[in-house]
Amino acid sequence: MSECEKIRPRLAAFLHGEVEDPESIQAHLDSCPECARMLDAHRKITRLAGLVTDLSPCSDAWTKVETRISSSPDSS
Ligand SMILES: [Zn+2]
Repeated sequence: MSECEKIRPRLAAFLHGEVEDPESIQAHLDSCPECARMLDAHRKITRLAGLVTDLSPCSDAWTKVETRISSSPDSS
């Protein structure tokens, strides 16, 4: 098993500070742009999930977004 395969499933936990050996993951990220990019993607997903959580109490915002999407059929 490669180092990448060991580290990738743990990137989300690493982001949340839930790994016991963050130094070894950080060391791999410093030498592996592929995994660093994966971490970046995880970070974006986490931030988007946070945005969704922030918006969800305000269903009006979502209604406006949906309306805008469905009311522009000839945008293609
Ligand atoms: Zn890697």
